[in-house]
Amino acid sequence: MAKKHEGRAVGIDLGTTYSCVAVWMDRHNRAEIIHNDQGNRTTPSFVAFTHDQRLIGDAAKNQVAANPQNTIFDAKRLIGRKFSDPVVQNDIILWPFKVIAGVNDKPMITLQYKGQESQFCAEEISSMILTKMREVAEAFMESPVKNAVVTVPAYFNDSQRKATIDAGAIAGLNVIRIINEPTAAAIAYGLDKRSDCDGKRNIFVFDLGGGTFDVSILTIKGDVFEVKATAGNTHLGGEDFDNRTVNYFVEEFQKKNKVDISGNSRALRRLRTACERAKRTLSFAFVTTVEVDSLFQGIDFSSSITRAKFEEINMDLFNECMKTVENCLRDSKMHIGDIDDVVLVGGSSRIPKVQDLLQDFFKGKDLCKSINPDEAVAYGAAVQAAILSEGFKNVPDLVLRDVTPLSLGILADVDHVMSVVIPRNTSIPVAKIKRFFTAKDNQCKVSINVYEGERARAADNNLLGFFSLSCVPGAPRGQPLDVCFDLDENGILTVSAKEVSTGNTNKITITNEKERLSTLEIKKMIEEAERYHVEDKKFLQKAKVMNALDYCVYNMKNALKKDVNLKLSSQEIEKINNAITVATSLLDKNNKQNETDVLEFHLKEMESMLKYVIAKTG
Ligand code: AMP
Repeated sequence: MAKKHEGRAVGIDLGTTYSCVAVWMDRHNRAEIIHNDQGNRTTPSFVAFTHDQRLIGDAAKNQVAANPQNTIFDAKRLIGRKFSDPVVQNDIILWPFKVIAGVNDKPMITLQYKGQESQFCAEEISSMILTKMREVAEAFMESPVKNAVVTVPAYFNDSQRKATIDAGAIAGLNVIRIINEPTAAAIAYGLDKRSDCDGKRNIFVFDLGGGTFDVSILTIKGDVFEVKATAGNTHLGGEDFDNRTVNYFVEEFQKKNKVDISGNSRALRRLRTACERAKRTLSFAFVTTVEVDSLFQGIDFSSSITRAKFEEINMDLFNECMKTVENCLRDSKMHIGDIDDVVLVGGSSRIPKVQDLLQDFFKGKDLCKSINPDEAVAYGAAVQAAILSEGFKNVPDLVLRDVTPLSLGILADVDHVMSVVIPRNTSIPVAKIKRFFTAKDNQCKVSINVYEGERARAADNNLLGFFSLSCVPGAPRGQPLDVCFDLDENGILTVSAKEVSTGNTNKITITNEKERLSTLEIKKMIEEAERYHVEDKKFLQKAKVMNALDYCVYNMKNALKKDVNLKLSSQEIEKINNAITVATSLLDKNNKQNETDVLEFHLKEMESMLKYVIAKTG
């Protein structure tokens, strides 16, 4: 049994487009989705930078049309990837913000903050969203939150998982476990179903979100939730459908007006917002209008799209989803008839065509829509967080057995072939040893390159890391070496190798030096995050004081409207009028002297004057 963590941990669904946080409630015997400060149960995964402040969540998303170059979203699509990754290159074309190649090909988001150029990596942006979710939880729980279970797409690779843990560290959160999103959703769905089945129940989870697509097959037997197979695409979701719709209308705009808006980030962003809204409408209506006033060069845009057209322009993407469904079922060695429930998760699973295709695939079976697709993942994460923490009561008994989504192996020295040590869909945690032999006489060292992926040629897979091991000098080829792969509960890998005859060992936790942040960099980013947090607080404090001063000036002006000449001396009236003039000039946002302490000083002075005036004039 794993050691339990102190304190009350929360579950966070760190989504591409929206994030959600939940916590186990002892009294209610269930997890609770926590509202943010706007009263919303999900928070946009957006961070914005303006000339004077940083905004996270709803506030950031609400100002996106006015500030597209400095409003960042989709950080999850960048996390753990290289700049040269074709996926990143494709995304960059569509993003209104700038991404450049940093050190070691790490993608860096470049923007203007407080009039200066600033750069952030994806982990930092994700950490800001995690900080926001932590604050949302802390406000609800009225206590500090240190630990969290964070979910990732089942198909996230080793680098993407580690980068997510790093994002947590920068946010000051200890990520006690990374769990897969569909597994978390299955927990949310399956908790109530356990009593319905005597033997076991096979659940197919179809999770189509904003940026990622995951499917998993789980078997629930008593208290054990066992993932049998998982498949997916870390780059397929609602935003791709939005992109298709945007492109469709960009062409239409070009045909009608003979102007190309594809290079104008503000116009694209506004069109995208309208397209996303249209897509949602098409989930219940058959036709909808898309209208954007003064979209480009003063030209209004007004058009409509039918559900059939939307389906046509996205059909290849929908079919790709179904191929993944088929592969996952094949991997699990189950048949369509073995599946008891098909559970829908993720906002994009509301698209009728997607539901039709899925229902057809499962031979007309009813799809389970009983759980809220936007919240199920956070709910399941909160249950897992409660299981792993000391501070909760009435937590369900549940054992989670997840699998590794990708095969892990090494390049055996000469033949370029990927030699698999842990095949995909193996239950984790797991440790496996495989024996290899030196390929040449007199070999003084062996290089061990560790890869993940399903391609036969090692170089076609994702290189996770490498190290070397020294061998017996002068020995003939065929010297045995044992390579051990140790995969922990988070799906994170440590590889060690031992030269059998000498006992020489070498070991690495695959840190993927090129992409992953070093401890020093993380420390620096934690300090920066703290600095940003202090700046945000200062900004809010200043806004509060300005508001109070404005209110005070307003009250004072009203008080002066009464007949004060008899009750106040002319010097007093002059002093008050001077104070109003100074305060009014300080309230002008272009006034460079309106520092918080100056404002506070004038506020105090004004408040005491107001008290005096009210006392005198009744
Ligand atoms: P998630 O990442 O699970 O929060 O899913 C968010 C994605 O679901 C976004 O791309 C939304 O546009 C999409 N979405 C939400 N509601 C609907 C709907 N009714 N129809 C189609 N897509 C939707």
